[in-house]
Formats: sequence, structure tokens, C-alpha cells
Amino acid sequence: MTEDSAYGYLLESLPAAVIVATDGNIALANRAARRLLEADPGVEGWACSELVGLPVIQFVHELDQFHSVSRMRRSAMSTTPNAPIELRVRTCRENLRVVLVTSVSIRFEGKDGVLISALEVGRGDAIGDRLRRSEEHFRRLFENMQDVYYRTDANGIVQMVGPGVRRVIGYEPEEVVGRDAAAWYPNTADRDAFKQAIRTYGEVSDFPGQMVCKDGRIIDISISSTALYDEDGRFAGVEGIYRDVTERKDLERELRRLASIDSLTQILNRRAFIEAAQTRLDSPDASCDLTLLLLDIDYFKSINDQYGHATGDQVLVRFADVVSSQIRETDLFGRLGGEEFAIVVSHTRPEHVRELVSRVLEAVRAIRLDGGVSRSSRGVTVSIGAALRAPDDHRVEQLLDRADRALYQAKHGGRDRVFWEMTA
Ligand code: GH3
Ligand code: MG
Ligand code: MG
Repeated sequence: MTEDSAYGYLLESLPAAVIVATDGNIALANRAARRLLEADPGVEGWACSELVGLPVIQFVHELDQFHSVSRMRRSAMSTTPNAPIELRVRTCRENLRVVLVTSVSIRFEGKDGVLISALEVGRGDAIGDRLRRSEEHFRRLFENMQDVYYRTDANGIVQMVGPGVRRVIGYEPEEVVGRDAAAWYPNTADRDAFKQAIRTYGEVSDFPGQMVCKDGRIIDISISSTALYDEDGRFAGVEGIYRDVTERKDLERELRRLASIDSLTQILNRRAFIEAAQTRLDSPDASCDLTLLLLDIDYFKSINDQYGHATGDQVLVRFADVVSSQIRETDLFGRLGGEEFAIVVSHTRPEHVRELVSRVLEAVRAIRLDGGVSRSSRGVTVSIGAALRAPDDHRVEQLLDRADRALYQAKHGGRDRVFWEMTA
């Protein structure tokens, strides 16, 4: 077909805008289309129009793009034209127009293509003004929003992303569009959970996840999104927003940490220790050696009485440090209250626990009050009750009870020593 063939002449002089697109790009745009899209009037003729080769979608308003892509895809597979719908288009001069469009699949120059016909509804006047205002409003919102707007297709490829992406993960929108959204997830399990939720519920709100920033930092995000479906009801992608919630998550983590740490000694508090010890007991590895040690500082009341409460506090801190340095990272160590502490040693044979206990007794004896300078300087000692996990120990309290009885024996036997529970 040429411009001076009968069809070509007719097409060129039609009052309706007609565009033929192949592979999503404009192959032909008649005069009315060039006028509608405000192409350079100096470049006449459809074949040499400045529009040729440009993606059709670039002229569709962002909010109508998804709909129009799915319509074009649909018309490409059908021989009947799409029902006309109203769309917002953006001209070469960035003006907005509302048009009534319909499309149908055709063969054009040996290729499959889509013929799109558009009629402008209302011109420049009231509709234009209203549109411009709502467009400005939308732009302002879009540019300044704290969240990142995004849209992906059915394969997770990013179709569109808001400018907030710069602030949140440090990428330019152009660097993100066209890539698989999975590339920003440090954790594939997170992404799978998100996909599963969106497929199951059609939407998610405040869904947790993480993303890798351009500078390598990992941030916590919260996603709120909805699934998109094409006109045949098939899953076509996801649209939504995500936001950086790292600060909130850090605060939550810090609060959780504070809630489980004893403020004086910085080791686990009673609740956290018992919880963690119970988790060890519940672990499927039930056959491993597990010992609970209950430690109570000897004559602590007299330390307070003799040196004051503040020194007593320092002794507690020093004691926690000294014991921590004797145990492994994997052992649990907590302050149960006052001058009473507990340790859970797992995966360690009793004879090795005995060695550990001797080291602890020794190290505690080395703690000096008064820095050891005055004649009244005295040391610190501790008594320890030890209980070894038995096959029918299911609760930490069972072990604590037995360790407590053993501790009583250690005190009774003269303090500064360990007593192992009597086993039947
Ligand atoms: P025993 O050898 O039998 O364990 O004697 P004890 O004096 O250590 O035991 P007792 O239970 O009679 O005294 C414990 C003291 O610990 C009483 C209490 O005032 C003191 N205490 C408890 N919590 C703290 C604390 O946080 N700081 C200080 N400085 N003292 C504390
Ligand atoms: Mg006590
Ligand atoms: Mg005591």
C-alpha cells in the first residue's frame, strides 16, 4: 500500500486518526493521527512521519497503559474489532487528549499488526482543562509520594515504576523498567511468599520483604499490591506500592532485644532465657546431651552490706562477664533474678561440662572486690547446681527444679562448689 494508492489516499484523508502498529511500534500514522498526536507538521506523509518506529504505548497515559496493552494483545488474537473505549493519550508536545479508540488485527507489509482508529472526544476546552488539572494533581502525587508505585507483568518484569524508586533503592526508574523484579530480592523465599499470597488472595497489604539497594544495602520493605487480570480473566501482573520500613523494623528489633535482655548485665533475662531453653528442649535433636546449671553467688547479701549496693551491682556485671568468657557462643546464659543465673550447655558430654564448671568456679574466685587493694578485700564465690536432661524432661521447669535441689546441696556442702543432681 502506498499513499497514492486508492486505499492509501482514502486512509490519509480520513477524518479519524488511524495508526498501524507492528511489534508494538508505529508503522503508519495518517494525517488525522499526526494532527491528533501533534507530530511535527513539517514532516508530512505517513511513511516519513516522525511517529514511525515509536512504541504506540508511549502515547498512552500511564494510568491507561495496562488496559490498552491488554486490549491490543487481545485484538491481535481476534479478527473482530475491540469495542470502542475512551483513553487518555499524551501528544508529542506533552498535551493530553481524550480519544475514543478501537483496534483490530491486520496483516501489514507481511507482518501481523494492529490497526488502531481513534476519534478525539472534546477538544482543548473544558475537558482539556479538567484533564490537565487532574493530570497535574496525579503528577504531583506520583513525583512526591513516599512510596514506590510499580507495575509488573505476569512474568514479574517491571513495566512501570515511580520516581520514588530513586530515594528508596537508589536506582533511576529507567534502570528498573524491563527487568525482573526478582533481581531486587535478596531472599527468594520472600518473593515466593509474596507471589503465592497475591495469587491466592488477589491482593496483599503491608506484606513484609526485603530489597537490595544499588549500594548493596539491604532494606526492609512493606508491599501493598493487587493482582491485575486481562479481559479474559487471566493473571496479567501486579500493581501496587512498596515502602521502606527499615527504621520501623530496626525499632521493632531493638524493642525485642531490649525486652529479652537484662539491663544490668546485658545477658538474657529470665523470660528470654526460659523461652530459649525450652526451644532447645523442644528441638528434634532430643538425644543430644543437655545440662542445665543453676548458679547463685555466695553470701551476696553480705557483699551488699559491706560494700554497698552499687558495688554489688558491679559484682553482678563482672560475674556475668567472667562467666560469659568461659562459655561458648552457642551456650545459653541468663540472669534469672537477683544474684541467680543459669546456663544451658548442649551437645556437650557431662565430663566436658564438669571441666567447664571448674573453669567457671576458678574464674569467679578471681573476681576481687575493692580491686584487691585493701586488707579487707575479699573474693567472690558461686555455688552451682547441675541437672542433666533425662529422656522424660519436656519442660525447662523440670530441669530447673532438679538443678535447684542440687544447688541447695552445693550451698549446704560449704558453697564455692558444684553439686550434680542425684540420678536414680
Ligand atoms: P547464699 O550464699 O545463701 O546465696 O547467700 P546470699 O546472701 O547470696 O543470698 P540471699 O538470697 O540471702 O541474698 C541475695 C541478695 O541479693 C539479697 C538482695 O538484696 C541482693 N540483690 C538482689 N538483686 C540485686 C541487685 O540487682 N543488685 C544488688 N546489688 N543486690 C541485689
Ligand atoms: Mg539467691
Ligand atoms: Mg546467693
